[in-house]
Amino acid sequence: MTELVWFRNDLRIADNPALTAACKSKQPVRACFIVTPGQWQQHDWSAARVRFVLEHANDLSKQLAKLGIALSFIHAEFFTDSLAALEAHCQEHNVRQLHFNEEYGINERRRDKQVRDRLAELDVGVNKYRDQTVAPVGQILTQQNEPYSVFTPFSRRWRSWIEETQPTLFPAPTAVGEELQPEQTDTLPAPFQDAPEPLVSTGEHAAHNQLEQFLAQRARDYKDNRDLPAVDGTSQLSPYLANGVLSGRQCLIAARQTGGTGEGIETWINEIAWRDFYINILYHYPRVSMHRAFKPETEALAWNDPSEHFEAWKEGRTGIPIVDAAMCQLKTTGWMHNRLRMITAMFLTKNLFIDWRLGEAWFMQNLVDGFLASNNGGWQWSASTGTDAAPYFRVFNPVTQSERFDPKGEFIRQWVPELAKLDNKRIHDPSKGGVIPGGYPRPIVDLKESRKEAIARFQALKD
Ligand SMILES: Cc1cc2nc3c(=O)[nH]c(=O)nc-3n(C[C@H](O)[C@H](O)[C@H](O)COP(=O)(O)OP(=O)(O)OC[C@H]3O[C@@H](n4cnc5c(N)ncnc54)[C@H](O)[C@@H]3O)c2cc1C
Repeated sequence: MTELVWFRNDLRIADNPALTAACKSKQPVRACFIVTPGQWQQHDWSAARVRFVLEHANDLSKQLAKLGIALSFIHAEFFTDSLAALEAHCQEHNVRQLHFNEEYGINERRRDKQVRDRLAELDVGVNKYRDQTVAPVGQILTQQNEPYSVFTPFSRRWRSWIEETQPTLFPAPTAVGEELQPEQTDTLPAPFQDAPEPLVSTGEHAAHNQLEQFLAQRARDYKDNRDLPAVDGTSQLSPYLANGVLSGRQCLIAARQTGGTGEGIETWINEIAWRDFYINILYHYPRVSMHRAFKPETEALAWNDPSEHFEAWKEGRTGIPIVDAAMCQLKTTGWMHNRLRMITAMFLTKNLFIDWRLGEAWFMQNLVDGFLASNNGGWQWSASTGTDAAPYFRVFNPVTQSERFDPKGEFIRQWVPELAKLDNKRIHDPSKGGVIPGGYPRPIVDLKESRKEAIARFQALKD
């Protein structure tokens, strides 16, 4: 009789409820990871993310082998194919209990229900655990037992839950057998071969080092530096968090133990709360993972035809330097600074008035930290269609944002080298005064006029 741990969005050994539970059973334990390239493509996974995930799954396989747990890579094109593959695997290895940590996208939920039904017929028990958030998903509710749809009251309740509960980590599993030869997966599936150089190092150990370094060196100044894209002021832990190499609990507990006190660390903990907030939104409002707006009335907005404006945005050729620099950072590294995610998303949805769903998909297709809950939440916030959304009349001016958050143009100089020689004022808007250098485009849209037009379209919706 074997216990099987199915790893999905939780590629770690430490603080893993499904793994801890399986190892407690005193039965032989195996693990599996299902490679589903067709499904990943359908879900807009980027090459950077697929590479990250497979490298981490290989590392996980090595670490599990040291504990006497064999991880098998199962290949199935889509979630629907993974059912039969999992069933066959359970029969081959005499599995009696399957353990996994929950995921909240609609297709993942449907898959898990089908797995539960199918395995019940084979007399295999299915055990699922709430892992993705600090407070188990669904527990942070209003006094009327309703989900929160505004962040600030959610985070207040989240913080008092933490004080009341003092969450701890799930105990690390001990070895269940002799060390084994680990199975590895070698090939990157065909659509994902063109990945950028990895942004962060591989492995759970590397993730913890990065967390410790951030807390020791940069967390104190996080509040002051987090909005400055030219400064290494944020943790860059998002690829690990998005793919479960680190858990939110681990981040919170480490921050409270070693990050000291003060506004820097408190502001950072607030970001972990944002992550939990958006995961809860995905859980309570499945429509957001079906390309639907959180605010249904905004479905009536008549977005512009994407045309060449969308291509210019994707390619970083809009003529707005901060937007173009950000889009180049995304394409080259698979990551983008949070302030720039807001600026580029607002520019696409408000100044170009292009549907947020197109931007959401493009981000997913490029981000190494692509994470449905946060990406959808961030896009709908920027487009004023979501929870807690930026009010439709508060439209960032990307040039003003650039002057404020990249005052010396250092970030722009790094990513748009043809503008490097412009002075600190002109670099934010080279179309103002003088010749534009090196074939750099003129702005593809008038910022003031397009802002007015966007506000009018939202206003019309309201009227
Ligand atoms: C349009 C848009 C799209 C986004 N897409 C994603 C995405 O696909 N995946 C993703 O992980 N984040 C996304 N974010 C949120 C945020 O930009 C990134 O989490 C952050 O930039 C990651 O960098 P970091 O690890 O250095 O963050 P830090 O500032 O060090 O924050 C620590 C962690 O908190 C979480 N976090 C921080 N900010 C947010 C936020 N606003 N919402 C939710 N969680 C947050 C992340 O897990 C992050 O790693 C998006 C934001 C916007 C505006």
